[in-house]
Amino acid sequence: MKFSRNLSRESIIRFLEGGGPDSELFKAAREVLLESAGSSVFLRGIIELSNDCRKNCFYCGLRRDNKTFSRYTIPFNEVINAFDSGYAKGLRSFLLQSGELLGALHIDHVEKILHWVSRNLEGVRMVLSMGELPMESLERLREAGAHRYLLRIETSSRELYERFHPDDGLHEYDDRLRSLQMIRASGWQTGTGVLIGLPGQTAENLADDLLFMKELDIDMCGMGPYLEHEQTPLWNRRSELRHWEERELLTLRMISLLRILLPTANIAATTALQTLDPEGLEKGLMAGANVVMPNLTPMKYRKDYNLYQGKVHVEDTLDEVLKILENRCSAIGRDVELGNPGDPLHFSNRIKEQVGDWTE
Ligand code: SAH
Ligand code: SF4
Repeated sequence: MKFSRNLSRESIIRFLEGGGPDSELFKAAREVLLESAGSSVFLRGIIELSNDCRKNCFYCGLRRDNKTFSRYTIPFNEVINAFDSGYAKGLRSFLLQSGELLGALHIDHVEKILHWVSRNLEGVRMVLSMGELPMESLERLREAGAHRYLLRIETSSRELYERFHPDDGLHEYDDRLRSLQMIRASGWQTGTGVLIGLPGQTAENLADDLLFMKELDIDMCGMGPYLEHEQTPLWNRRSELRHWEERELLTLRMISLLRILLPTANIAATTALQTLDPEGLEKGLMAGANVVMPNLTPMKYRKDYNLYQGKVHVEDTLDEVLKILENRCSAIGRDVELGNPGDPLHFSNRIKEQVGDWTE
């Protein structure tokens, strides 16, 4: 069958190389989405908690050696105020994202926020995306009430990983992989993702990324186009990049293929995709995504959280943002699910299977 869950590497490569939004691939992904995960769009309110980072990834504007902007960490009260207003509007899942910081102060800060959420906001799922943390920090944060962890592998190719990270002992492919496997094995709802359209990245590399995510049997995925940033080493290679329209098409094909490979996973229409194209939201959802992440970061910090250039900075209030989102989704036949934490069906199913295994 052409679109079975067991698509071969060869056919994945073929689909990555051609076909637009009207192609069979996109239609099949939409059908799989409706049959498996449904038409709902789930929201995660994101707070960009700190732009400080100990790492130096060649693609990222927040890298340690970029001294052209000021570093911040949002204080406790401002974070919980933002969560409180999000909760009042029906958001039931929040994502805390930051650079990679291992210090006790940072972990204590996140733990305190999680404790507050557990005590004050009923029925909320907290998601963390804070890089490679040691096991004991992860355990503390899980005990404090976090449920989901997002750690992008960035690229499943060791060779590409090494090309886009410094060779300084801090950026090891094996460490990243082990960290992701440890998160998956210790009971988190697990998300990963990749950068799409890096210089020199081939359709074969991207096909391997998809098979990597299927093999790891992830619950959530956030993958988006690579976007340039002037204050990074990769800026020098921008002439080698695919045109933005091609990077967008590749991203959409990746979303559709992953939807077919992992029908019940939660897949995000990422901010990077929406930065590339004002219609990126609709296109991502039509390709098979079912998660959108409205930004709850207080306005004064937003200009300093630039992973890449040109990030959309909307000035609208949360009320306006949600209204616009609802309208844009309903225009393509999709419903925003407020009041629902949107657990990935993929996770519930695999937990059921495990319980089944133990009781048989
Ligand atoms: N520091 C953490 C989480 C924050 S960064 C971590 O690295 O895991 C979140 C994601 O931003 C990264 O995983 C990376 O995939 C993405 N990112 C960084 N630079 C980017 C760029 N130039 N274009 C697109 N995405 C980028
Ligand atoms: Fe730091 Fe994450 Fe950016 Fe790498 S991608 S420099 S770890 S914020």
